[in-house]
Amino acid sequence: MKIGIYPGTFDPITHGHTDIITRSLRVFDKVIVAVAPNPSKHPLFNFSERLAMVQLVMKDLDQVDVTPFEGLLVDYVERSGAHAIIRGLRAISDFEHEFQMALINRKLAKTVETVFLMPSEEYSYLSSTIIKEVARHGGNLTEFLHPEVARRLEDRIRSLRL
Ligand code: ADP
Repeated sequence: MKIGIYPGTFDPITHGHTDIITRSLRVFDKVIVAVAPNPSKHPLFNFSERLAMVQLVMKDLDQVDVTPFEGLLVDYVERSGAHAIIRGLRAISDFEHEFQMALINRKLAKTVETVFLMPSEEYSYLSSTIIKEVARHGGNLTEFLHPEVARRLEDRIRSLRL
C-alpha cells in the first residue's frame, strides 16, 4: 500500500488543497494530511481549529487520514511508514521554495521522495493568504472554500473587527 503525506498549514483549507488531495489519491492508496502548527506564519486560526476544518472537509474520504504533526517532517514521514511527501505546485513562484524544501528533506533523509502535483487551472491562483484578503474585504468565498470553512472564516474576520 502506497502512502503519501501532504503537509501544510491549512490556514484555512481551500479547494486548492482539496484538489491536490483528490489528485494524490490517484497515485497513492492512502494520503495522510499532516497539519503543522507553523507559529512563524502567524496563522489566523489556531492549530486545533485548522485541524478541525481539515477533518470536516475530508470526512467523506475514507482513504484520507488527518493528523497533527510537529517537528521535522522527514522524521514523521519515516515514523508513519509513508513513501513520499506530496506538495502542490501552483506557479513559478512556488517553485524556488518547494525545490529548496525537497532538497533539504532529501539531504536529511535520503529515501524520502517529494512528489509535486499541479492543481486544476481554476485553483492555480488560490492560496489561503489571498482568501483571507478576500474575506477581509467582504468578498464571496463560496467558490474557494467548503461552506462551513467559509462561515468560520467570516466569523473570525468579523470577531477581529469588534
Ligand atoms: P505551507 O505552509 O506548508 O506552504 P500551505 O497550507 O500554505 O502550507 O500549503 C500546503 C501545500 O499545498 C503546499 O505545497 C502548497 O504549495 C499547496 N497549495 C496550497 N494552495 C494550493 C493551490 N491552490 N493549488 C495547489 N497547491 C496548493
